[in-house]
Order: sequence, then structure tokens, then C-alpha cells
Amino acid sequence: MRALITGGAGFIGSHLSEHLLSSGHAVTVLDDLSTGQLANIAHLKQNNQFEFAQGTILDHNRVDELVLRHDVIFHLAAAVGVELILESPVRTIETNVFGTETVMRAVARHQKRILIASTSEVYGKGTRVPFSEDDDRLLGPTTKSRWSYAASKAMDEYLAQAYYHERQVSTIIFRLFNTVGPRQTGRYGMVVPRFVQQALTGVPLTVHGSGNQSRCFCDVSDVVKAMAVLAETLAAEGQVFNIGNPQEVTITELAERIIDLTGSSSTIQYIPYEQAYAPGFEDMMRRVPSIAKIQQIIDWQPTLSLNDILMRVIDYHRN
Ligand code: UDP
Repeated sequence: MRALITGGAGFIGSHLSEHLLSSGHAVTVLDDLSTGQLANIAHLKQNNQFEFAQGTILDHNRVDELVLRHDVIFHLAAAVGVELILESPVRTIETNVFGTETVMRAVARHQKRILIASTSEVYGKGTRVPFSEDDDRLLGPTTKSRWSYAASKAMDEYLAQAYYHERQVSTIIFRLFNTVGPRQTGRYGMVVPRFVQQALTGVPLTVHGSGNQSRCFCDVSDVVKAMAVLAETLAAEGQVFNIGNPQEVTITELAERIIDLTGSSSTIQYIPYEQAYAPGFEDMMRRVPSIAKIQQIIDWQPTLSLNDILMRVIDYHRN
């Protein structure tokens, strides 16, 4: 296939590019380098099946021209990371709503297949364990901008499904749960690279709240395999899939494990949410994916354990 990856210079997009190229596909990355980095894709440039286009998904003509000459579009370009979203709510909404609309329109015009990256944030502060794709969503008030991310991504999902049902566009949505691995930056708040950097530099690991909240971390190499297979699965059209690792860990346990695996002398420092983010910040206590649906359709499951995942990130930051 000839794949166009929007946001392909980002953490997940660069791994997807690498995986598709190694499977013999041609890949074009469209990225405005706002949070993506050339360094993430520098090693792909010598591959003659790889192309890089610097530009924004808000540029109608550019997007149209690129969509036209590809078979499958992986739409990953988005504003991501809780801290970035709180700092730049306008950019979050514009990128995630107008950007996706621009890409969807081009895909519909040229009748291509699109896979849209969504997020486990769309479940909001729902308390079901695990979350299944058809579960209800529970979002906080519009006055708390954290929820603009979930709402904007939910809008992307509605848009994709509307195009599928009304315009017969081949759309597939996947909701990523916490994805980690080499090249992820801690700059936008993501907990694993942040803790690893803190442990390696010997400063305290900053656990927010009580640390009893838990997350499920999936290695990016497992995640991109699922995305690539979904892209070639006709039966996936028009559907939504969770992609994540059901293995759960509390944030305190995560910090302890990272201190242990790095052999660090760092301690743990507990920071109230209102200090870490903003007054009235709402976090979710648990967020566990049900992967029954994706397992059924493409027989996928994560292969790397939490320790394997953490060691890969630690090795990356050490080098
Ligand atoms: N977190 C933390 N310390 C940090 C960064 C994050 O304790 O330096 C917590 C955060 O409050 C949340 C969890 O780790 O409870 C996961 O945060 P992340 O931003 O990585 O992903 P989220 O699941 O919130 O999208």
C-alpha cells in the first residue's frame, strides 16, 4: 500500500512509518513539526519508499494533493498530551476538529481508506473496568478545558462514522490507551518518559495526587502492528477499536518500578493535582481497555510486559 501518515514525525507516527516501510509499503509523512520532530524520522530518509512533506493538515490544497496519490491515510496529527491541551485549548480544538475535517473531506472526495487515531480520553471519567467500545462516555463540564480533548476526538469519531454511513467512505477508528516507547517525550506531561528522565538524573519522581490512580501502558511497537493489520482488514470498516494493554499499574507502583529498574537514588515527591495542572483538575482513577473486540477481528494482543516496555524506554534515554 501507499500510506500517508499525518503526524508521522511524532512519536507513534514515526514508529508506524518504520513498521510499514519494513513490511514493504511506501510511506509519506505529512507533519508540521509542531510537536513532531525531524529527528524521529531522520533514519527513514535513505529509504526510497519514504517521503516527507512538511505542512499542516489545515492546508486544504496540500492535503488534497497528498490524499489523491495514496491508498490509505493514517490520520495521527493531533494536539496531544494533557499539559499541551491545558496550555493551548484553541490549538487543540482547531487541529482536532478543523484538521480532521480537512483530511476527511479529501479522503471522501477521492474515496480512499482512512484510519483515524482517537483516544481512551473519550471515555472520560467513566468508571467501567474495562472500557468497551460501546460504553457510555462521561465528560466533565465545558468550563474545564481538559475535556475539550475528549470532546474534539469524539467529534472526529462522529465525523468518520457519518462519512462511512452517508458517503460510503472506508473509515476505521482506533482508540489508543496510554502508549509508550522510545522517542516519546516527557515535555507534554506523559508520565513514563518523565519518570525515566527524573530517575536517570537523580531528581525526585513527581507523582500527582495520591498516586493510587492507575493506567495501562502498551508498547508502541505492539500498537503500530495493530494499526497496520486493521488497515488491511475489510471487516474493520465503519468500526471503533480499543488498542491498549490491559495490564494495570498504579502511578506510585510505576514510579517505584522505574526507580528500581534504573537503580536510581531518586525519591518520590507527591504533588497535588491543582499544583501540577490547574485548580479543579479532574483525573481518572482507572482506565483499562477491553481488547476483546480487536482480538476477535484481527487476533491481536500486546506482546511486551510492563518491565520490557520500561526497559526499552530506559535504554533509549540512557543512550
Ligand atoms: N502523572 C504523574 N506525574 C507526572 C506526569 C503524570 O503522576 O509527572 C500522572 C497523571 O496525573 C496521570 C497519569 O500519571 O494520573 C498518566 O498521565 P499521562 O499524562 O501520562 O497520561 P493520561 O493518562 O493522563 O492521558
